[in-house]
Amino acid sequence: MVSVAEAKRIILEHLFNPSVEFVPLTSAHGRILAEEIAADRDLPPFHRATMDGIAIAFDQYQTGQHRFAIGGVQAAGQPKQQLTDSAFCFEIMTGAPLPDGADTVIPYEHLSINEKLVTVLEAVSKGQNIHRQGSDAQKGALLLSKGFRISPAEVALLASVGKTTVAVYKNPTAAIVSTGDELVDVGETPLPHQIRKSNSYALAAALAETGCNARVFHLADDKTELEEKIKSLLENYELIILSGGVSKGKFDFVPKVLESLGVKKIFHQVSQRPGKPMWFGQSPRNTVFALPGNPVSTFMCFHRYVKPWLLKSLRTEVLKESAVLATDFSFPPKLTYFLQVKIKNESGQLMAYPAAGGGSGDFANLKDVDGFLELPLDRSEFNTGETFPLISFR
Ligand code: AMP
Ligand code: MG
Repeated sequence: MVSVAEAKRIILEHLFNPSVEFVPLTSAHGRILAEEIAADRDLPPFHRATMDGIAIAFDQYQTGQHRFAIGGVQAAGQPKQQLTDSAFCFEIMTGAPLPDGADTVIPYEHLSINEKLVTVLEAVSKGQNIHRQGSDAQKGALLLSKGFRISPAEVALLASVGKTTVAVYKNPTAAIVSTGDELVDVGETPLPHQIRKSNSYALAAALAETGCNARVFHLADDKTELEEKIKSLLENYELIILSGGVSKGKFDFVPKVLESLGVKKIFHQVSQRPGKPMWFGQSPRNTVFALPGNPVSTFMCFHRYVKPWLLKSLRTEVLKESAVLATDFSFPPKLTYFLQVKIKNESGQLMAYPAAGGGSGDFANLKDVDGFLELPLDRSEFNTGETFPLISFR
């Protein structure tokens, strides 16, 4: 048995080495960048009007002239024009390049327009309402580094610098495998002694959130079937996440079968609740997380161990979070306790409220909680106001 800290350290020492693939920009969301992105031109590429109104030469305004005849219109998408006579103004639209000779934009809200004559009604400051060329980034400047997770904001940035395809780290080929003779598929009506599978769907969804899609399988608690099917899964998938069949039950064959198929056990059992029977192993081609079947255990172990392993392998990391325990809590067993908590932001502090009954119960609770507060095993009393690591899943 290893401690939670050992389990985490060991897992992060057994990363997988991703290759790089190119995906279309439209599929890049959620993936992790494997190239550096530089500005291909100044951002913005020209002095850009940020308001609809008129463009003037400020020096002219400062001489006391507050009334300008309209000399032309500068629309967005039109080449830059020239204000040759500063007694005039140009009408200008948001997104249009500032005409040469002009340096200040006054919005329509600050003007009255009579025929072709504009009167300025409000005070003006030099250079106002212009997004200056290169003020966001100069041509060649580094915009994004490798390891950056591509969110919708980065999709915009990639588009703006002309990336039709993007280099990202390739996810491992992944299989999610539930085990158990008591389980039936979601669309079936369970007999009184049966339950519907939920783990594989939760795991597939959680994995998809990291940008990795998996195939889902189910295996019976039958040693021969497990041997045959897991053998073929090991040939076809680099990452295998199993749920169930790793405890001390008479039909918990998963660890033995994995070892017999050449997956080296790196640890079995972690001093934690939930999730104590967790098993972790590797072969030259595969990484295998065999998680306990209890749905809360499976869920917690995925977020505490599998997700950091995957993200770190893909050269990025899970943000470290913490929260403040909002009520006293007691947990005497010598195990790290992952307490289900609801998080409330109170005056800028994340307060963690234990779920009813400490949340040790069923996964139906998970809808009411935001994450797990990690309470260390060397203590049994935890006090209001103490800060602990938080593994949040929202
Ligand atoms: P096991 O780890 O196989 O002993 O399973 C522990 C508990 O989790 C049992 O009550 C199982 O019925 C339940 N369980 C195992 N796998 C799943 C699953 N895929 N979906 C829902 N419950 C499961
Ligand atoms: Mg089972």
